[in-house]
Amino acid sequence: MAAGPILPGATLGVLGSGQLGRMFTIAARQLGYRVHIYSPDSDTPAGQVGDVECVAPYEDLDRVREFARGVSVVTFEFENVPSATSRACAEVVPVRPEGEVLHLTQHRLREKTFLSEQGFPVTPFRRIRSLAELEAAASELGLPAVLKTASFGYDGKGQQKLRAATELPVAFAQLNGAEGIYEAWVDFEKEVSVVAARTVDGQFAAFPVFENAHAHHILDVTFAPAAIAPEVEQQARDLARGILEALHVVGLLTVELFVTRDGRLLVNELAPRTHNSGHLTLDGCVTSQFEQQLRAVCGLPLGSTELRQPTAMANLLGDVWLAAGGTPDWAAALADPRVKLHLYGKAKPRKGRKMGHLTATGATVEEAVARVRTARARLAHPQGLTSAA
Ligand code: AMP
Repeated sequence: MAAGPILPGATLGVLGSGQLGRMFTIAARQLGYRVHIYSPDSDTPAGQVGDVECVAPYEDLDRVREFARGVSVVTFEFENVPSATSRACAEVVPVRPEGEVLHLTQHRLREKTFLSEQGFPVTPFRRIRSLAELEAAASELGLPAVLKTASFGYDGKGQQKLRAATELPVAFAQLNGAEGIYEAWVDFEKEVSVVAARTVDGQFAAFPVFENAHAHHILDVTFAPAAIAPEVEQQARDLARGILEALHVVGLLTVELFVTRDGRLLVNELAPRTHNSGHLTLDGCVTSQFEQQLRAVCGLPLGSTELRQPTAMANLLGDVWLAAGGTPDWAAALADPRVKLHLYGKAKPRKGRKMGHLTATGATVEEAVARVRTARARLAHPQGLTSAA
């Protein structure tokens, strides 16, 4: 463990090279750090803004160790990095959060088992390795339910909703030999998230609770403050604190939660990193989630998580380019002076691919949400064409 904080001027290492790494790198460079990026891809969102883009497979542990020797600390922006990769880094420098946290959050069964053993609220679940186990789970926990692959799922990938017992054999076949997790269906009122940070000396800070609306299983719009009672907001932040402490997280971790119709909180998932829902912190909070990650992994004092004013974020998927029939009308979106555009430097827009996001602030949260939604709608329908149509 490095003694004392890692100060500006030092070089930081990031495993993974997507938009989360890009925005972390921009924050780090603003504070005068250098950033080296490691991933198998080239000309990546993070690599474009980093000092060095190391292009090699995660499995090439000699390259991984060489990368680690060039930096003072390693963090990540992508949790599906193999455990062996983070272990190889940890032989050389601190990895924050440590590989154990990564290992746990890579696997839904390990994660939910840990959470329930520690007394954190989760929906009832069962491990699924055979059709018999699936049938037993359905009779014990009931239907509807969700069957997920235990590993490598995100944005609803590897997930099936089960409604009737007759669907079980086909659903099991679709696991394709992979281990599964059966989760009792949560009839939630809303989905929220808490992004929180913890330092090596135990400082803790949580951002305000973000409320998330999904479309086709992908995050669509986030806003803060969330429309929840103050005591639920406090419970959500306390839950996050308990989880970061139980996992001894050094760095940043996101807790995705369901708010049930009777006002209870259930943990859906953990992400040991910054989160799409936290992008509104860039323009809405005193400290962004990326600067907070940097402060936490470097052992600096944490920044204020205060929300300066109601803020909303709308994702820009490749679908926006497809709807616009080419380059979206950026000027039309930015015609509202309170709207900010963030693009990730990805060359090819594909359906469902996260290409960028918009944020907007407003006097009320409703106003902020209306602003981002209106701005996004203008991207595909340039004002001139709309009025002529
Ligand atoms: P996940 O990949 O686990 O984050 O799930 C993606 C989305 O599927 C969540 O954001 C929820 O909207 C929905 N979902 C996941 N698990 C459940 C569940 N047990 N009950 C109801 N909806 C769920």
